[in-house]
Amino acid sequence: MASNPASPDPESLYEARRAVHNKRIDGPFRRFKWAVMIVTLAIYYITPWLRWDRGEYAPDQAVLVDLAGRRFYMFDIEIWPHEFYFVAGLLIMAGIGLFVVTSAVGRAWCGYACPQTVWTDLFQHIDRFVDGDRNARMRLDRAPWTWGKVTRRGFKWLIYLVIGFVTGGAWILYFADAPTLFAQFFAGEAAAVAYATVGILTLTTVTLGGFMREQVCVYMCPWPRIQSAMMDEHSLVVTYKDWRGEPRGSLKKAKREPDKFGDCIDCTECVQVCPTGIDIREGPQIGCITCALCIDACDRVMADIGRPRGLIDYATLDDCEREQRGEAPRSPWKAVFRPRTMIYFGIWAAIGIALLFALGTRTRTDLSVAADRNPPFTIMSDGSVRNSYTLKLRNMESRPRDMEVSLVGLDGGSFWTEMIDRSEAGETQRVTVPADEVREVRAYVVVPQGTPEQQFAFQLTALDSEGETDLVETQFNAPEAR
Ligand code: SF4
Ligand code: SF4
Repeated sequence: MASNPASPDPESLYEARRAVHNKRIDGPFRRFKWAVMIVTLAIYYITPWLRWDRGEYAPDQAVLVDLAGRRFYMFDIEIWPHEFYFVAGLLIMAGIGLFVVTSAVGRAWCGYACPQTVWTDLFQHIDRFVDGDRNARMRLDRAPWTWGKVTRRGFKWLIYLVIGFVTGGAWILYFADAPTLFAQFFAGEAAAVAYATVGILTLTTVTLGGFMREQVCVYMCPWPRIQSAMMDEHSLVVTYKDWRGEPRGSLKKAKREPDKFGDCIDCTECVQVCPTGIDIREGPQIGCITCALCIDACDRVMADIGRPRGLIDYATLDDCEREQRGEAPRSPWKAVFRPRTMIYFGIWAAIGIALLFALGTRTRTDLSVAADRNPPFTIMSDGSVRNSYTLKLRNMESRPRDMEVSLVGLDGGSFWTEMIDRSEAGETQRVTVPADEVREVRAYVVVPQGTPEQQFAFQLTALDSEGETDLVETQFNAPEAR
């Protein structure tokens, strides 16, 4: 039997969702939300189309996750698989960055920049554009399914699908050359995985942003639970000053008996504009994403009835108590610059500086050496002893580079490679490594008869860059002296 949401079954723990028809509002926080939404969406949709000249040997897409080539490109930075610690470092910085933001300005990430918030906001604007503002949408919701309602809903859901498709489509462009993949996609020539990814992302965007909306924040996202543990009475939150607003009463009553009522005239504007549909007058709650639109709404009401702004305010609980006691609130900067925030910021900055240092000092060449184990050595016809090695020379620049490979610490040793004849053996050989590649070279090292087993090293030197060398120690095996 269907339960009536207005009088829930006392034995049922399930509360049916009440659709949120949030009202249009204007004000400083709404304008800031507009700005963040436009900037974040523009970054997401436009970035794959940005070009970046890296020369003829590397892709010219500014931001590219090249899975086939196993590279990550971001403007002038190119990350190889063995440098994944840069990506891990950036992810750790992003996590700690959220700690910094939360301890300084509360759930500002949730209210403004979280993708779920941004896309939900976008879909709510589509609702307003197609169906009208709050009252019109509520009327339409209650109306029977006439042909007009079906057409209107169909049109709106079509726009949802287009947004979902563009969002999924933009995502795959980060993984291949955007103009090429775009053309292939519409010509039906892209890989099946591209179509599957776009399909899945279209579906998730429409489901999460278009239909589930605030339920994702309230029931699915773990972040609000973690944030609650990071906040204290000195954190900035959106709060209703009940000591000032209560007891609430209509404007008419408040005018008749001004001493009996507080500043809240119970107009419910703050509830009507809330994108998650909560009533902030009931106190801090997990459904509040700190978007501050209720502040914009209430400040307008206060201006209209000639009372001071800030009945709902962005303030710390500590400041609210001070205000209640008649003391001057502290500067909001004190909520931002406090020990907890500074510690988080210090850790964040230290990781950032370490990554920048590693990025600035990393070499763009790399050498690895693997000695043949079987046989460990070969005795040549002239009595000299030979060991064989596989060298991997990595060139991380987007141009071919001449490199020199030398033997270090192997007296009397010389070597040749599979590209040359033994007669050209020497202590040093020159090798050209193609752009952005790892070149495998077989090296045959010989020492005169009687040379004992010992450690030595291969040294790789990039000839076009002073000081760019890599030294790798290895073992030379020889028969035991009799
Ligand atoms: S907008 Fe302000 S005055 Fe109106 S109900 Fe909310 S808190 Fe009260
Ligand atoms: S209560 Fe206010 S700050 Fe919280 S989500 Fe609703 S409108 Fe945004």
